[in-house]
Formats: sequence, C-alpha cells, structure tokens
Amino acid sequence: MKTERSNGFHVIPQPPALYVAAVVLLAGVYFVTGKLGLSLAFLNASASAFWPPTGIALATLILFGRRFWPGVFIGAFLVNFTTQGSLWTTLAIACGNTLEAWVGAWLVMRFASGAKAFDKLHTMLSFVGLAGVVSASISATIGVTSLTLAGFNSKPFFSVWLTWWLGDFVSAFLVAPFFIVWLNKPISLPRPVRFVEALGVCAAVLAIVGFVFFGWFPDEDKNMPLGYLALLPLLWAAFRFGVRGATATALATSLLVLVGTLHGYGPYFKADKNASMLFVQAFIGTMTITALTVAATMSERRRAEEALLRNEAELEKLVEQRTARLQQSVAELEAFSYSLSHDMRAPLRAINMFTQCFVEDYGDKCDQTGLDYLKKVRSSSERLDRLIQDVLTLSGTANHQIQLQPVDTDKLIHQIISERPEFQPPHACVAVQSPIHSVRGHEASLTQCVTNLLSNGVKFVPSGTKPRISIRSEAQNGHIRLWFEDNGIGIDGTSKDRLFKIFERVHGEARFPGNGMGLAIVRKAAERMGGTVGVESEVGKGSRFWVQLPAATSEYQI
Ligand code: ADP
Repeated sequence: MKTERSNGFHVIPQPPALYVAAVVLLAGVYFVTGKLGLSLAFLNASASAFWPPTGIALATLILFGRRFWPGVFIGAFLVNFTTQGSLWTTLAIACGNTLEAWVGAWLVMRFASGAKAFDKLHTMLSFVGLAGVVSASISATIGVTSLTLAGFNSKPFFSVWLTWWLGDFVSAFLVAPFFIVWLNKPISLPRPVRFVEALGVCAAVLAIVGFVFFGWFPDEDKNMPLGYLALLPLLWAAFRFGVRGATATALATSLLVLVGTLHGYGPYFKADKNASMLFVQAFIGTMTITALTVAATMSERRRAEEALLRNEAELEKLVEQRTARLQQSVAELEAFSYSLSHDMRAPLRAINMFTQCFVEDYGDKCDQTGLDYLKKVRSSSERLDRLIQDVLTLSGTANHQIQLQPVDTDKLIHQIISERPEFQPPHACVAVQSPIHSVRGHEASLTQCVTNLLSNGVKFVPSGTKPRISIRSEAQNGHIRLWFEDNGIGIDGTSKDRLFKIFERVHGEARFPGNGMGLAIVRKAAERMGGTVGVESEVGKGSRFWVQLPAATSEYQI
C-alpha cells in the first residue's frame, strides 16, 4: 500500500485488515446516516434535501485519503438498494455518490489547501465552491438522470435535481467542515472562562431556536418570521471560538431548526414538506456560509496579528544588534581619532619650536618678508594645535568614564574667570549673580562647558562693543539651569538647532575665527553629566545659552 500525503497528514501504510475495517465502518456510517436522510425524502424516495453522508464521506477522504472511496461506494449502494430502483440505477447512484466524494476531495486537496481550507477566507470559499457547488452537481445529475431514465421518477426533473443537489451541497459545507476542523488537530481543554462562555453560546442557541422553532414561549403564531435570530449565537461562536465554534454551532442549530420545522414550527414550515425542507436547507446554507466566512476572517486576522508581533520582536532584536555594532564602530573611530590627534601634536610642537629657534638664532639674517613667512608658519601651526586640542577634548569627553559628585558651581565659575584675563576688565565684563546653585556633575566637564560658553560670549560681539556676560542659575524640578546671557550679535532662529553639532558655524571665519567644536564639546560634556543644553537668541539682541544639570542635593526638588 503506498504512502500518500494528504494536507498535514502522512498516511502511514496500514495493514489491510485495518483498511478493510475502516472501509466497513465508513460504509456503515454512510448507510445509517443515508437512511436517516432518506427518511426525509418527500419528493422522490431517493432524493432528500437532508443528506449528511456527503459531508461525512468528503471529510473522511480529505482527512484520511481518497483510497477509502470503497466505503462510500458500498454505503451508497446499500442505502439505495434498500430504497427503490433496479440494480443498475442503484449502481449508477452509488457511482455518482462515490465520484462526488472522490472528485470533491481531490479538488479541495488540489485547490483549497485540503484540511487547512478553513484557515483562510479564499480557501474556505474555494471549498464551498468546489466541494459544494461542483461535486454535489455530479451526484445529483447522475442520480436523478438514472432514476428518470429507468422510470423511477415521475416528478419534474429539475425539482428532484434541486432537492438532491441542495441536500448534498449544504452537507458538503455544514457536515464536512465540522469533522475536518475537529479531527485535524488535537483538541485541548478550554480554560474555565472559555468553557463558561461556550455554555453561554449553547444556552443562546437553545433559547432562540426553542423560541422560534419549537414554540417554547406561548404565542399564537407558530411560524413567526424570526429565523434570522439564530444567526446571533452563530456569529458569537464564530467571533470567539473560530472555525471549530462556528461549525459545531452551525451543525447543532441546523439539526434543531430541521426538527422544529418538521414539527410545524418556524418561518420555513410549509404544507408541502419538500418545500419546507428546501427553505430550511437554504436558510441553513446561508447561515453556515456566513459563520464560516466570519470564522475564517477572524482566524486570518489572528494569524496576521501574531505574525506582526513576531516581526516586531525580530525587528527590535535586529535594531538592538545593529545599534550595538554601530556603537562599537563609533567607539573605535573615536579612539582612532583620539590617538591620531594625539600623535599629531608632537611634530606640530617641533615645527613651532624650530620656527621659534630659527627666528631667535637667524632672524637678523632674514629680511622682513622671510620673517613674515615664518610668523605665518607659527600662527598656522598654533591654530592647528588648538584644533587638535579641541578634537582631543571632544574625544576625551566622549570616552572617559566620569564620576558625578556635588560641584560648588559658584566657586568654580569665579575661579575660571579669575584665571582667564580675557574674561576680566578691561576686555570684558562677566557678572555672576551669586549664589549660583551647586550641581551634581563633574568638575572638569563643567569647566569645559563654562569656558566654551564664556569664550563664545566674549568672541561673538559687534566690533567696538565691550562684551558683557551675565551668569545666573535657576532651580526647577530637581535640576539647576545655568544661564549665560551676552550682549553679542545673536543667532537667527533657523540656525539654533544645528549649533551644538560638531563643525557647525553660523558666522564667517574671517570675522570670528573658530573651528565649530566649542558648543559640541559643551553638549557632550553636559550630556555625560546627565544634563541638557539649549539657547534662546535673536539677531542683534544677544544670546542666552543654558546648561541644565541635576541639583547637587534634593533641597531644590519640588
Ligand atoms: P566656534 O566658536 O569655534 O565657531 P562653537 O561650536 O563654539 O564654534 O560655536 C558654533 C557657532 O555658534 C559659532 O560659529 C557661532 O556662529 C555660533 N555662536 C556660538 N556662541 C555664540 C554666541 N554667544 N553668540 C552668537 N553666536 C554664537
């Protein structure tokens, strides 16, 4: 016996005895349910609008393999042989029923993902189209044609055909999905809350069906047009319990609706019993397709959400990995620039020193032009040295670990001013509005901030104006903001955002020499101390730079 792959199933070679037992079992179930179906055949003894065997046969062939078709053939043969017709009509009907199941199973396996058809909306609809519309036509056409040709049908061909077809069609997407979705994966025990909710669905089905199709509540009208109410618990089941909930509820509701209608209740009851059956089947069919559509849509949505969550997690991991790699590259680059800058200072100092020596020892042997050239060599090498120092400061600010501790800001600022003549009269007037609040920071880093801000304050002033800088502090929410207000040329609004980036300059090099690193150093130093920086300014109205750092003690906390 060959191994066959049926969607999600590896059908293992089985001993013939087991295969025979399975075929006999299928034939038995087909026979019993077929007899039950034919007990509701009102138009022609062989054509019933209620035909569960179609769904059972289809589910079996999809789940376990099409080689079990003999079970369908034997079952169908026996049902019809014990009903009406000759040996030939019975054989023809059995062939039609077997073909219906075999072709239906093949089409579903080939074009509708087999047992997984109900996981997606488009495969579910393909299932209904292929296993329902197409394969049910095979059985109905062969069956009714052979009965009519052999003289066992006195009713209009199309009426009998429609009854037969509708029974098989509804069974294909009511009974088959139920067995497929409940048997193709293991069933796990529901959580107690879910179990209670499932009981709620059952209660709703019973209440609505009892009310509309069994006349549980006293009412004169036994046939109130309220059949659509049965859709409510079905949608509930489909939304909350997926395809399994939808198929189970649809099957249970359908059976109850059928029984109720046969007893003369509900909107689909008609004096003509076959008409009643057709109406009920049309109702059941519509209801089931709606529920399956909702359930398939929900399960598609759930899977999409799960995939999205998985993607998000993967993306986060990827970003983390890339960030770590980037940080490593930046650290390596910073270390490289630090060592390069460091090594460049020695030859620069040599150039400077030897130029100085040359001027001192041989200056009298040079004419004025030569001396001017040497002066330019010195000033250029001094500028390059300052640039390298700034690069070193910036790399050092980024690389070295610092210890945060309380810093007496007031004392530090006064000390910086006293050490630098350019911050003192007559060059400039720096007013400190003491006492300046102490901060929690790092003295060397804070010195870099203050020095750079003061240097800029005295540098960026209109020519002929004496630089005036006022320093004050402000406590807010556990932080101290240090303000540096100057009477300089100011900065236009659009440039403010980029000032703190490295090498960004707003004003021309000719009037205000510099390398664009001062404010970058201020920002890095402040950030390393857990602080922030900013500026408020207008062209021609001076600038107010600020550095905000954590307060030294909790006394300023609000
Ligand atoms: P540098 O001073 O070497 O040019 P900075 O990074 O310290 O570099 O400053 C960047 C730019 O920000 C300066 O070139 C200048 O255009 C502007 N700037 C900084 N401080 C002031 C200030 N106090 N007043 C006006 N412009 C300023």
